[in-house]
Amino acid sequence: MTQTKLIIITALFFTLFSNFSFFNNVLEVYPFEGMNIIYIFSITLLLFTFMVFLFTLLSSRYTTKPILIVMLIISSLTSYFMNCYHVVIDSDMIRNTLQTNLNESVDLFNIKIVIYLIFLGVIPSFFLYKTELKLSSFKKELFIKLKTLLLSLFIIIIILFSFSKFYTSFFREHKPLRYYTNPTYWIYSIGDYISKTLKSDKIVLKPIGVDAKIDNKDKKRKLVIMVVGEATRADHFSLNGYSRETNPLLKKEHIINLPHVSACGTSTAHSVPCMFSIFERNNYSYKRGINTENVLDVMQHTNQIEILWRDNNSDSKGVALRVAFENYKTTKNNTICDVECRDEGMLIGLDKYIDERKNKDIIIVLHQMGNHGPAYNKRYTKVFEKFTPVCQTNQLEECSKESINNAYDNALLHTDYFLSEVIHLLKNYDQTHKTSMIYMSDHGESLGEHGLYLHGLPYFMAPDTQTHVGALVWFGEHNNKNINPTKIYSHDNLFHTLLGLFDIKTEVYKQEMDMFR
Ligand SMILES: [Zn+2]
Repeated sequence: MTQTKLIIITALFFTLFSNFSFFNNVLEVYPFEGMNIIYIFSITLLLFTFMVFLFTLLSSRYTTKPILIVMLIISSLTSYFMNCYHVVIDSDMIRNTLQTNLNESVDLFNIKIVIYLIFLGVIPSFFLYKTELKLSSFKKELFIKLKTLLLSLFIIIIILFSFSKFYTSFFREHKPLRYYTNPTYWIYSIGDYISKTLKSDKIVLKPIGVDAKIDNKDKKRKLVIMVVGEATRADHFSLNGYSRETNPLLKKEHIINLPHVSACGTSTAHSVPCMFSIFERNNYSYKRGINTENVLDVMQHTNQIEILWRDNNSDSKGVALRVAFENYKTTKNNTICDVECRDEGMLIGLDKYIDERKNKDIIIVLHQMGNHGPAYNKRYTKVFEKFTPVCQTNQLEECSKESINNAYDNALLHTDYFLSEVIHLLKNYDQTHKTSMIYMSDHGESLGEHGLYLHGLPYFMAPDTQTHVGALVWFGEHNNKNINPTKIYSHDNLFHTLLGLFDIKTEVYKQEMDMFR
């Protein structure tokens, strides 16, 4: 078989079998009727021709087969996630995937993913591998390559111009549609990710708030526990009016619920560094975040605050690189582990930590496993299984909406317990310290509404469920702080709120952003 023929067959395979999600979304916007039928055929031809162009561009005597095989394997997996979870493989998703640890990947593993891998990846790859390529002389191959490139480019231009009005609307008004093309969009996203991450100059950390100092005559030390939640959406908190009781223990405490908090991003990798950064959502980027000190660094500049980050999620996403960090996903540190290490394990030994630093201000950040999906049923022990039946598989689309909600809400009950335990711990220090707890989730979660699952959609197209997060605060008896809970807050407020909480004076502090001003 000639190289060109192999490329055409592979492109045809991708168009027909790996783009279910794309065509599904196209058909939602353009129902199969009237002129739309012609448009849809033209989109199909355009996608196919573009792939031929792209693959030809990447082809050479030695690269054609390996590149196509890698594309088939990866695309079989992206097909699975796009079809079943309706996720989009953008540069943020690639960053998330690369930062995912083995445990989280095991969580995603199931039989359906293997079926996708075999039928859309391994079997076509095997045939492709076995196909013998008929190669001509270098000169002739180059000539054929140029001919194919020009011809496909010509066809692309013809299609675009014949239906220019339609394509203007397709590319401008329905921008998200192309995010579902496979493998073209994930290839673009990898490029986008590389240019955003690696192309950026070596990390030169820009110090901020080096003038930070605490001047207070206060005899009482401050003790703050900042809990970074995982994937809790605001509308599933009974504190926010959810019909089920998902905050039974917290409602007994004098907490101040914050019903209107929006996240900086829709994924852990985006939201967590953004929350602690000086940048606001509009001007935050991964590069700016990683190249600039965060609020923990500013606290460090005072030389008067003890900072500890304990992590039962993946890691601190670069936030705790310069402060004390303890991994609680391992049985080495976490003493409460069964099928996985539990969030409450992070509380063990904190008494000792605090007692050893009696005359210091302390901030402890606890990064929870919380409601990490899709295996919500693994996020809690049997005692929290109040809502049944629960979805027992990570193939969410196989479960009823009710059973997914049940598993998710049971996991919320576990967080309710965890946060109430944090409060109990802080109460022990009420007489000696000014205590407070801040809880904010990193992002929300989709639970099957409009066929969407999990999180990570680009912000502008993400539903409220992914961006409107659970958040609340608690103050000890001797900590007179004010907050207007009805106000609209966001992750942008955290940086200044934490500085304010420790009475830190610095040029980077903006009082109007402090939730407790
Ligand atoms: Zn997260």
